[in-house]
Formats: sequence, structure tokens, C-alpha cells
Amino acid sequence: MSAAALRVRGLTAGYGKVRALRDVSLDVPEGAVVAVLGGNGAGKSTLLRALSRTLAFHGGAATAGTVTFADRPLHGLPPDRVVAAGLCHVPEGRQVFARMSVEDNLRAGALAAGRGTKAEALRRVHALFPVLAERARQRAGLLSGGEQQMLAVARALMASPRLLLLDEPSLGLAPLMAARIADTVREIHAQGTSVLLVEQNAALALRLADHAYVLEVGEVTTEGPAAELAASDEVRRRYLGVVDERAADDASAAEARHLAPWEDA
Ligand code: ATP
Repeated sequence: MSAAALRVRGLTAGYGKVRALRDVSLDVPEGAVVAVLGGNGAGKSTLLRALSRTLAFHGGAATAGTVTFADRPLHGLPPDRVVAAGLCHVPEGRQVFARMSVEDNLRAGALAAGRGTKAEALRRVHALFPVLAERARQRAGLLSGGEQQMLAVARALMASPRLLLLDEPSLGLAPLMAARIADTVREIHAQGTSVLLVEQNAALALRLADHAYVLEVGEVTTEGPAAELAASDEVRRRYLGVVDERAADDASAAEARHLAPWEDA
């Protein structure tokens, strides 16, 4: 396995009696974009929280399994050590510090890495998101939803992660803004950062990813190259909203038979 690869084996996690992840295994090779698809409550956010070791903040815990990054065990580390190891988590719902300025939000991202403010990192995120340079002194809470998502991603990038964990970056955004966020993910990847992307928007995720996993009720049920999953009837029907014409024809034929059973006789 390559140097900065993430390797998850048999991860089981939950919240008290609620078992949210069961025996989940997945890999993010160095330099890859890997997507995790799944509907509401499938366990996608729990997976990222377990990886960033922030589950306890949500009343949860990982109860079994191993997580290694660059061959180093992460399970058992506190969240700040996970960041220092090179993993940064952008949680669902953006969660920027609304009363702080855009620039102070970015500086907070660098502090979380324990390496102080980095002019170089700031230059890099400003190049990626020019609007954040223009709005540096504005309160983060006054940005639009899309700009707040950019700020949340930029704040994580301030810690210069080797692997970015992105939870539903397109959630609640208009299609144009979701497409801009997708372009940014491509750019971040092109600059050498691996990405583990959790999305309900399967079409967008499969366009961005090299490889994808499908999570259903806390378990991985399907995995494969993103292009293969995008072509699979099952994935197309369940996650891409594509109607399977053959199945639809069978259903209407069955319905017709049901309505006029004597015709079969
Ligand atoms: P969504 O896309 O709706 O965010 P998800 O795939 O991210 O869904 P999770 O949020 O990981 O799913 O939830 C997995 C399961 O854990 C669900 O049954 C959910 O109700 C439960 N759960 C999530 N967070 C908590 C919590 N803080 N306390 C108790 N149960 C939780």
C-alpha cells in the first residue's frame, strides 16, 4: 500500500444502542478521490466522524476495527493528533464560526494543525477561493451558503492535509454552486491532496471519484471503480434516479395483468 493511504478494516461504531456502522472496510489510496454514497441515515457522517475521531462529540464511539493512515494507527488518537497526521474533516452543514471574520476562520484552521498561521497556506486558499480574500474582514455568518461551504473547505486546507474528508459539500446548494464546489475538489486533488467524499448527490460524487463505496444501513454493500458503479443498473436506479425501462415495462405488464386477469386465460 502506498505511503499516504488510508486503510479502514472492520470499523464498527454507533451511538449508545444505535449501531450506525457495521464491519466497514475501505481504502483510500494515496492521491485518489474516493466517494461513499448512501441515503439518509446510511452511516456516512458517522464514518467520517469515526475517522477524524470526533464521534465522542456527538455521543458516539467506535467499538471495533482499525484505521491506519500512512501505515500509522489512528484509532485511539485524539482529534488534534489526527489533524497533525494529515487528515482534515469538513463536517456536514459547514459549521463556520459565524461571528468571526472570514480571515479569523482561516487562521483557526491553521491553529487546529498546531503549526500557527501559515502565510503560504493562506496564499494557497486565497488563490483557490478568491472570494475569501475579497471578504477577508466580513463576518463568516454573512456569506452565502456556497461561500460558507468554500470557507469550511478552505479552513480545513489551512492545516495542509494529505487527506481531506468531505461530508456532503453540495448539500443545500444550487446546482451552479454545487458545480463550483466540485471544480474546487478537482483542483484540490490536482494539487496533490487525496479526498474521501461522502455524498447523497451520487451523480456528482461519481463524476469526481476514482472509486466508490455504497453504504446501506451501516454496511458496505457495493464497491468498485466509479465508472463501473455509474453504469450499474442497481446504482443508477437507486442513487441516480434513473428509471430502469425494462423493469418499468415489466411492472406495467404485471399491473395490466392484474387489472385484466381474464386476458391471460
Ligand atoms: P445523512 O445523509 O442523513 O446525514 P448519514 O448517512 O450521514 O445520513 P449518519 O448521520 O451517520 O448517516 O447516521 C447513521 C445512523 O446513526 C442513523 O440511524 C442516525 O439516526 C444515527 N445517528 C446519527 N447521529 C446520531 C447521534 N448524534 N446520536 C444518536 N444517533 C445518531
